[in-house]
Amino acid sequence: MVNILKQTVIGLFCLCFVFQTSVHAAVIALDVGHFPARPGAVSATGETEFEFNRALAIVLRQVLQDRGFTVNMIGESGDMKELEARTRAAKGADIFLSLHHDSVQPRYLEYREIKGRRQHYCDRFSGFSLFVSRINPDAAQSLRCAVSIGKSLRQAGFTPSPHHAEPIPGENRLFADQLNGVYYFDELVVLKTAAMPAVLIEAGIIVNRTDEAVLKQPQTRKKISTAIADGIEEFFKKR
Ligand SMILES: [Zn+2]
Repeated sequence: MVNILKQTVIGLFCLCFVFQTSVHAAVIALDVGHFPARPGAVSATGETEFEFNRALAIVLRQVLQDRGFTVNMIGESGDMKELEARTRAAKGADIFLSLHHDSVQPRYLEYREIKGRRQHYCDRFSGFSLFVSRINPDAAQSLRCAVSIGKSLRQAGFTPSPHHAEPIPGENRLFADQLNGVYYFDELVVLKTAAMPAVLIEAGIIVNRTDEAVLKQPQTRKKISTAIADGIEEFFKKR
């Protein structure tokens, strides 16, 4: 009886050990969206999305590494001009995360002058969005991972933006999980060509004047990164 108990305890211990290892040995491919020559969206004060993406990615990498994840950073130096090169560089990773900051359709942009320069902005929309592709070879796990991240961002106090679902040209995206801010975007190249579950994160809308100021703060970057890392940890625990 004592032996059986002993073996059970040892067995449980081993199981826990294997489980812990599978969570913490995971490799995250962290893709910094865009590159300096084509830097993506331009913020309400004229800063580029690429700079926002890189700044957030640097914080997120640290948070993930502190939790024992291995991070394969892609595009940090701004040299990734081909989208498929990004997913090729992710080979061997367990999940692919593409980090972005959002804009809105041109019809919603308003203009003001900053230091003699005409600058667009739009305060109408606010919040994060997550995208997954049904063409990804592991579409089910992609969705599960995105839902887990969305849930965690909401728990941290962030709000998803519904603007990508608006029935207008350029949007009209189908919700995969409205509550958690997850949309389908099947043709997004990095999502469909990744060999592993993949999620694209729009961390916030940088053409929104208030949101841009908040998104720029180091404590916001830390809070977003912590929430994303919590979501990823939860995803691996239940895998
Ligand atoms: Zn982008």
